[in-house]
Amino acid sequence: MSEQAETLQQERLAALYALSAQLGMTLDLPLLLNQVMDALVQLTSAERAFVVLVDPLGGGLETVVARSVDQETIGDALPQFSHTIVEHVIKKGEPVLTGDAQEDERFATGESVGSLSLRSIMCAPLRARGKVVGAVIVDNRLKVGAFTREDLQLLIAFGTQAAIAIENARLFQQTDEALARRVDELTLFQRIDLQLNRSLDLGEVLDLALEWAIALTGADGGSIGLLQPGGAGQDCPSLQLYALRGSALPGPEYSLPVTHPVLSAVAEHGGSVLTHDVTVSSAIDGSPAATQLAVAIRSDGAPLGLITLESQHDHAFTEEDILFAERLADRAAVAIAKARLYEQVLQANRAKSEFISLVTHELRIPMTSIRGYADLLLAELAGPLSDSQKQFLKTIRRNLDRMAVLVGDLADINRMESGRMTFELGEFDLNQLVEEVARDLADALDARQQTLTLALAPLLPAAYADRTRIVQVLENLLDNAHKYTPEGGAITVWTQRVGDRLEVAVSDNGIGISPEDQARLFTQFFRSDHDAVRAQNGWGLGLSIARKLVEAQGGQIEFNSVLGEGSTFSFTVPLVEGASDDR
Ligand code: ADP
Repeated sequence: MSEQAETLQQERLAALYALSAQLGMTLDLPLLLNQVMDALVQLTSAERAFVVLVDPLGGGLETVVARSVDQETIGDALPQFSHTIVEHVIKKGEPVLTGDAQEDERFATGESVGSLSLRSIMCAPLRARGKVVGAVIVDNRLKVGAFTREDLQLLIAFGTQAAIAIENARLFQQTDEALARRVDELTLFQRIDLQLNRSLDLGEVLDLALEWAIALTGADGGSIGLLQPGGAGQDCPSLQLYALRGSALPGPEYSLPVTHPVLSAVAEHGGSVLTHDVTVSSAIDGSPAATQLAVAIRSDGAPLGLITLESQHDHAFTEEDILFAERLADRAAVAIAKARLYEQVLQANRAKSEFISLVTHELRIPMTSIRGYADLLLAELAGPLSDSQKQFLKTIRRNLDRMAVLVGDLADINRMESGRMTFELGEFDLNQLVEEVARDLADALDARQQTLTLALAPLLPAAYADRTRIVQVLENLLDNAHKYTPEGGAITVWTQRVGDRLEVAVSDNGIGISPEDQARLFTQFFRSDHDAVRAQNGWGLGLSIARKLVEAQGGQIEFNSVLGEGSTFSFTVPLVEGASDDR
């Protein structure tokens, strides 16, 4: 080789090395592989070049690069490379160099060597992570002895670079696909979680979980059930079925003993069980199926229930379907636990409600009789009384009134909380109502030398609400103003129309309420620690009841208070329909 030709070859070699080194970094692998192979062909006086990979699943050969000397991709129509040599290289993991394949006893009998009239061939393995993943082969069909040992070294070097780059690209693609699948799954589970957690109704949660399981595994039908401990009327624990799809629901009370083959299999296996050729006796709903997948619903490791999915196809459920159903079961378990807890809370609340109902009713009966006899004695209908006897009876009467208020308040709260409170709506004159309530309180106000001013707006349209309940609210606010205003204080009641509402406000120049106490106002049993409050009787229930009564009738209750200066409580009442706007 002349000095000039040698320099040229060295330059080309350097260029090929530089190009090969880029393989590991490129994102457009096919393009770069083609470029490198073209350079290789030019440099080694090869006629054609191929990069062949072994299919990791089937074991067949896949051509990823096929370039001709004209720097073009060889189409399928053109004769292909020597399979005999490629297979030999892949099997042995060692390179091959032959100057004339047809005369080489190792390959001469190879079918492709003969049929393609191949002469010079060199082939190097592609090795990634210690495994031969394919081969790179260049050939020349005309020239004998076209390749040198140096050329083979170059091919081997290139093979090393290419194998790493191809493997990286393959891993990248796999990771990318796996990541995309994971993101899809997470998005889906986010939707499922949202739906499952939106409902606190156990039946709805179970229905939803089953619907998702059937839809996303492509099952023909399925069931979902919860394990019930053996109890009254039942000898042993059972699986109570709540929902069945794809076949008729045998009835709301449909349950299976834990000895049922599906349940025993799941219990024994500790995980999901896939059964083929499901018979009548091993099917959860008694109808045969080609495949049945049973997935346990577990909470903290303990079995809670079971999801089954049926299909009439033999290979219905993939590994992915099983994994999906298991993840869904985990999520359903959380929603089921929540729904059950909520059910328990509702039950406890119902029990409390019934208890209060019973107690208030039972207390009212003796209280009525005590009041009756006390009034009878006070009226001296059973004979004359001494002054101290009268005083004692009056104390009994006062305490009885206190008790009656508490019993009445508890009964009201109970009715409202259990949704049993009814309102008898009707039209009434609000100013008249205020005057009546004020009159009833006149004696109590006089006793503490408190003045009461009524500032009532004239010509108010009629209110539309439950009159008795509005009286109750106003009585409470006026009574509070009276109790929490020192002797000689001033109280004012205002009425006015505000938009499509009537407003009543009770203002006092009493003890006022501290900002901390204001934050707790309207909560049940709240009473301020202020000495003036503790000196008065009360249960701390009035305001919370007043707020519920006002709001239930479409009004609002508000307050304004400054400690040591006084308070104003106001509430609104709906107007009668059709009240003219110009008033
Ligand atoms: P009660 O009067 O039986 O204590 P309420 O629910 O009617 O119960 O009132 C709760 C608490 O709110 C009272 O104990 C008192 O601390 C405070 N409060 C209510 N009205 C006034 C008011 N007009 N002035 C000062 N404090 C008040």
